[in-house]
Amino acid sequence: MAATLDGKVALVTGGSRGIGEAVALRLAADGADVALTYRGNEERAARVVDKITEMGRRAWAVRSDSADPRAVRAAVEEIAARFGRIDILVNNAGVGLLGPVEDITLEDIDHVLEVNVRAPFVAAQAALRHMTEGGRIVSIGSCIAERVAFAGGTLYATSKTALTGMTKALARELGPRGITANLVHPGPIDTDMNPADGPSADFQSGLTALGHYGQPSDIAETVAHLVGEGGRYVTGAAIAVDGGFAA
Ligand code: NDP
Repeated sequence: MAATLDGKVALVTGGSRGIGEAVALRLAADGADVALTYRGNEERAARVVDKITEMGRRAWAVRSDSADPRAVRAAVEEIAARFGRIDILVNNAGVGLLGPVEDITLEDIDHVLEVNVRAPFVAAQAALRHMTEGGRIVSIGSCIAERVAFAGGTLYATSKTALTGMTKALARELGPRGITANLVHPGPIDTDMNPADGPSADFQSGLTALGHYGQPSDIAETVAHLVGEGGRYVTGAAIAVDGGFAA
């Protein structure tokens, strides 16, 4: 039997590590050719490309800083030219910045909004030029967008909540074209950004209903569902994969 994503081309931003890597590998396992972007970690990106190639799929990594909208656009165009199409966009690259609201600088605000909000918007715009019926856009938000359970999250929550509006509006606009847009809100997931043995890990685990961290593969499972056949009637939705953090 053919894999569900056979013949599809996926672009995963921030695919060199963490959740993005898990998503890239999972979509490749489901049959997609996968392109990924990264900011600086060429070695890790190359390793993900090698793993996907070993699965028998095409893979390509492009260095592209999401803070630079021209670089985001250029990466999408380069990938579309190389693969001939884009069927799936996963807006995953993101930065976390926590701290008292009065300590947040203007530079912090610009950077977090550039990477977490403007880049997904620009990537969606650019990818849509290459997407046809059946196309899928999935953005990675955060459980903090659903429940700001501790102090210090004003900037991060502002950025991740913006993706709710973007996703719903895209769903409305793209529905007639047969393209879906959805949002996945991870809870605490064991990555470099938020290691399960980090200083606030016990605290974060205690905020979930299940009492522990999730793995990047937990997020990849849900993304795979949304971009596969099972997600065909799901659009404009926000799905929490957070161990009950928002419960
Ligand atoms: P990591 O820090 O572990 O990995 C980040 C990935 O994004 C890397 O591939 C990195 O590339 C890339 N990246 C970071 N900044 C940029 C940039 N400016 N331009 C291009 N690529 C960039 O993060 P996670 O895997 O933990 O997080 C992935 C997403 O999930 C983010 O949007 C995050 O906000 C969200 N999230 C994570 C949670 C968690 O607990 N881990 C919880 C809720 C949401 P490189 O390797 O080159 O640095």
